[in-house]
Order: sequence, then structure tokens, then C-alpha cells
Amino acid sequence: MSDLIASLLILQDRDQRVTRLTADLEHIPVDEAALTKKLATQTARYEQLKTETRKLETDRKKLELEVQTKQALIAKYKGQQQQTRKNEEFAALNHEIERAEQEIVTLEDQELDLMARYDQGLKVTATEEAALKEFQTKVTHAQAELTKKRATLEKELEQSLVARTEAEGKVDELALRRYRRILASKKDAAIVPIVHGTCTGCHFKLTSTAINNAKSSPELVACDNCGRIIYCPDSQG
Ligand SMILES: [Zn+2]
Repeated sequence: MSDLIASLLILQDRDQRVTRLTADLEHIPVDEAALTKKLATQTARYEQLKTETRKLETDRKKLELEVQTKQALIAKYKGQQQQTRKNEEFAALNHEIERAEQEIVTLEDQELDLMARYDQGLKVTATEEAALKEFQTKVTHAQAELTKKRATLEKELEQSLVARTEAEGKVDELALRRYRRILASKKDAAIVPIVHGTCTGCHFKLTSTAINNAKSSPELVACDNCGRIIYCPDSQG
């Protein structure tokens, strides 16, 4: 393997590292946003549950007031009954009293139903609150981990960029330009080993001339199919 190939391989290794670290760094805000969204969703669900439960109690109090109003009405009717001498009016008031009493029974049934639902709501809310607190702790922890990860990646990237510049300095300008051009177009790799007579970049079977050139030529040899620089890993250059 020629010195040029060896230098290019080191450069490519560092390039790939820079690419990997950059991608990892770019993914951190995505992870952070996902955490924030999940927490917001769970918080909203808890708040809604709390509001719904509170409304059950408000509704029950309204019914209670209605019952009191009906009771006052019954008291008023009874007062009117005592003052009237007319049988017809007395009977009419009796009818009104019975109706109000019937309505009170219905209202009280509704109240009982709301009380039961309110109790159930309180239990569910408490469970949900505990789950939310636990989740908040998890999210805080995960966010701290991401912050730590970002700092580590930034430091590694900084070091990798220095190492890459250093590796670039060891490749002559023409070869560097060629390497950069291929890498920009192929993304994954610009220089690949020949394995079993095949270019490992595109898996194309290479001609023996190309293989021999790659073994012995001091020039860079490209795969006829994909244009990546090819080299023989076993050749002693
Ligand atoms: Zn190829």
C-alpha cells in the first residue's frame, strides 16, 4: 500500500468520524423536542383530568342549590296552604309540592351519581399525578443526559476537525481535490478496498488490469464503474 493510499485512508477515517459526530449532534435537538412534546402531552392530559373532576364537583353543588331552591319552594307552598280556605287551591298546591318533591328525588339521585364519579375522578387524578411526577423526573434526567452528550460530542467533533486538518496536510493537493470530489458525490467513501476482485464501493467485478494497476501503479486508480479510488489491502505497496 502506497503512502498516499495510507494517508487517504487515515483522512477518510477522520472524515467519516466528523460526519458521524455531526449527525449525532444534529439529532440531539430532535431528541430534546420529542421529550418536551411527550411531557407536554402528559401534562395536558393530567390537567384535563383535573378540570373534568373539578367540574363534577361544581355540577354537584349546582344540583345541591337546586334542591335547596325546591325545598324553599315547598316551604312556601306549605305556607300558602295554611293560609288558603279553598279546597281547589289547597289541592293545586299539594300537586305542586308533590312535583317539587319528585324533582328533589331525581336531583338527589343525580347528585349521588356525581359524587361517585367525583370520588373515582379524584383517585384517577392522584394516580395520574404520581405518574406525571415520575415522568417529569425521567425527562429531567434524560434532558441532563442529552446536555452531557452534546458537550461530549462537541468536544469530540472539535478534536476530530483538528485531526482531519492534520490528515489533510499529509495528502498532496491534487489527490486531495480528487478525493474530496469523489467523497462529495458518493457520501459514504471515496477510497475502498478491493476484496475478491470486487470494488467494495459498488460491488462491481474489477478487470485484472484495474487490479494490477491498483497493486503496482504509483498513481491513484479508480473503479471503472463507480469512480471510487480502489486499493489492494494486502499489497505491501
Ligand atoms: Zn466501484
